[in-house]
Order: sequence, then structure tokens, then C-alpha cells
Amino acid sequence: MRAIVIGAGIAGLVVARQLGLAGWDVEVLEKSPAPRPDGYMMDFFGPGVAAAERIGLYPRLAAAAYRVDAAEYVDMAGRPTSRLDYRRFARLAGGNVLSLLRPDLERAALAAIGDVPPGRVRLRYGAPGSLVWNDDDGVRAAGGSPEKILAADVLVGADGLHSGVRALLFGPEEQYLRPLGMRAAAFIVKDYRLNARFRDRFVLTDSIGRVAGLYSLRSDEVAALLVYRCGAAEAGELTAGSTRERLRREFSGLGSTVDRLLELCPEQPYDDVVAQIVMPGWHVGRAVLLGDACGAVSLLAGQGGSLAVAGASLLVDLLGPVVTPAGVGPALAEFERRWRPAVEEAQAAGRRAASSFLPSNRIRRLLRRLVIRASHVPGIDRMVASRIVGKIAR
Ligand SMILES: Cc1cc2nc3c(=O)[nH]c(=O)nc-3n(C[C@H](O)[C@H](O)[C@H](O)COP(=O)(O)OP(=O)(O)OC[C@H]3O[C@@H](n4cnc5c(N)ncnc54)[C@H](O)[C@@H]3O)c2cc1C
Repeated sequence: MRAIVIGAGIAGLVVARQLGLAGWDVEVLEKSPAPRPDGYMMDFFGPGVAAAERIGLYPRLAAAAYRVDAAEYVDMAGRPTSRLDYRRFARLAGGNVLSLLRPDLERAALAAIGDVPPGRVRLRYGAPGSLVWNDDDGVRAAGGSPEKILAADVLVGADGLHSGVRALLFGPEEQYLRPLGMRAAAFIVKDYRLNARFRDRFVLTDSIGRVAGLYSLRSDEVAALLVYRCGAAEAGELTAGSTRERLRREFSGLGSTVDRLLELCPEQPYDDVVAQIVMPGWHVGRAVLLGDACGAVSLLAGQGGSLAVAGASLLVDLLGPVVTPAGVGPALAEFERRWRPAVEEAQAAGRRAASSFLPSNRIRRLLRRLVIRASHVPGIDRMVASRIVGKIAR
């Protein structure tokens, strides 16, 4: 059996590896010329951990993980205002939370493709792909450079939040994208002073309507995440002008640490709307969407990477054993039936987290401080964790 995967993000790489291990022939098309370096530190817990252990990816992820002792909110002078103990949070989230840089998670998934017998998974970078045909006889996609038409038994659209496969199969993005009223930017800077000051903890500004978060990496680097509230117009695509200039305007007056991050910020860092994808169906004929393309949960849910790994591995549990084209449709339907509840649960957790992640006024900020300060109290700790991780904590 043959598969085409469009998008070599976390979901696309894991599905390609698992299909390859199941004996499929897999062609992966990725539009960026190489694995993308952008992204911030992500929590990896719940279904992604269980799936990673089962498919043998876990040791690679654990080796790339960072140590995090606490999430600490600070005022403009850098003094702590509240602190969430991460080990306690990890226990409530099921005992196993890895803190991973998005590109490290992607690199681990890429390295794991080496477990597949040579030639079975062909990975092409710098090769944007699009679906051109989908019926009972199979799927065809155009991709590569020079462009080729590829034929297969199934196509997996793992091309992220702004999926082109989704647009072709189900119609324009506006129908499915649910902006959460925020934009997020992420980038990595080199500064040994900042790095030495903020080791082993997430540091977040205790600010209203915007937050700058940072985490010290190995080798004198610091990963930065900037999130701010914005109106509906700004929540959409923003292409004009320098992202760095916009971030400098939005994040002025938050203290010298944030000023320093913005001094070092690249001109066009990763920058996107914070949004979820909500749609009534994920598959048509022999094509299926996976990961953010059909069920983005947003960074507020903190589970995008975990769900990408778990969803990809479940899809291959169902699709891998299929040996005739007629078996593809039922496997895709079963995947959606089984996976949708987990995605919807994480999306609900993401929406609930919005008001405490970016409080809209002083009272809400004070409330957040009080809840976090009380988070060592049994009962309140569970409430805080369940706001962050939804059902998994229960
Ligand atoms: C650069 C980047 C930075 C991110 N940073 C964060 C972060 O800091 N925090 C967080 O929680 N989440 C972040 N995310 C989202 C998070 O990684 C995802 O929620 C999660 O990993 C789901 O992965 P995915 O594979 O479904 O989608 P993605 O990780 O978005 O991967 C989709 C892939 O498809 C490729 N693609 C798109 N269109 C085409 C096409 N036509 N042809 C071929 N390839 C195509 C993209 O280049 C990308 O590699 C980031 C995503 C990206 C791409």
C-alpha cells in the first residue's frame, strides 16, 4: 500500500514513520527547505507520552527534554509575584510531563524515521504539495521540484493550521478557523546573561492583555514566546511590515528583560494567530486530515505536540493493517470516531485557559495570582492542573 503525506511537521513525520514500519511505501512532501527552527518550549504529556512510549519514540524525546522546576510570574523589575511548582503539576497530569522545544520534538520524530527500512519513506524538503485527485480509485498529489504527479492509496494532510489540503477538500479556512483573540510569536536569541539568570524555570511577565515568556536553553540561548490580545482584523493573516517592529510596539514598557529580548528578536520570527480548527468531518474518500490541520487546539491547551504524536500513531494503528484499497475508507472513519473526543476535550481546556493566560484587567490578574499562590493546597492544585490540562488531570 502507498501513502502520500503532505507536511513534515510532528504529525506528518510520526505518521510517515509508523506507516513505513507497517510496510507501507510513503512519500512525504514538505514545503520548507529544511526542518524549521522556530518555536517555543512545549509541555508534552498525556496521550502523546503514552503513544511515544508504545511506538518507541519516548527515549529520543526524554533525551531532548529540558528540566523545568517552576513557572514563575514576575513584575517589571523581575521580582516573582507567583510561582507554580512544576513537579506538583506533573504529578497531577499523570506523572510524566516532558518540556520540549518544538524543533527538538520535530527533530526527534525525523531521526526516528531512521528506524524504517531504507527507501520505504521518501522525505522531500522544499517540495510544496497539493491534492489534485481523490476518488475510489485512489489519490493523486502534485509536488516536488520539478513538480511530479504522485499516486497513492491514501493521502494524509498534515499541513498544519493553515492547511491547503483542508481548503481543497472542505472549503476556505474561514469556515473552520476559530481565532481566540490573540497572536503569538516565538523565537530563540543568544544572550549568556539572560540565559544564566533564568535557568530551569519558565519565566512569564505578570502583565495584562499580553505576556512575554522565556526559558533558558543549552548553549547560552533563550527561547521567547510573546502573546498578546488583538482585535478580529489583526487576528487574521498579517503579512505587511516587520513583525519585530510590531512586537516592539505591543510589548513596550514590560521591563528591561523584555526590552533585551526585543532588541535581539529576528526581523520575521514565527508569528501567527492563536486559533483552533473546528470542523464537522476530517476525511473524504481516500484523504484524511491530521494534527493541527483538522483539530488545532492552540498553544493555550499546551497539547498540540502531544496530540500530533498520539493522533498519528492511532491513525496508523487503524490504517497500517489495511491491505486493500477498499479498507481505507472504514479505517479513516474509525480513526475520526475514536480520536475526535480527545481533540474536543483539549480544545475545551484551551478555551477555558484563555482568560487566566491573558487576564483582561487587574482583578482577573489578581485572581490568577491568588489561585497560583494557593496551588500547593490539595484541591486547589487539582483545580489549577485541570484548568491547564483538562480531563487528563482527572
Ligand atoms: C514554525 C512553527 C512554530 C510553532 N511554535 C509553536 C509553539 O511555540 N508552541 C506551540 O504550542 N505550538 C507551536 N506550533 C504548533 C505546534 O507545533 C503544533 O500544534 C503541533 O506540533 C501539531 O503539529 P502538526 O504537524 O499538525 O502541524 P505543524 O507543526 O504546523 O506542521 C505542518 C507542516 O506542514 C508544512 N506545510 C504546510 N503547507 C504545506 C504544503 N502545501 N506542502 C508541504 N508542506 C506544507 C509546514 O511547513 C509544516 O512543517 C508551531 C508550529 C510551527 C510550524
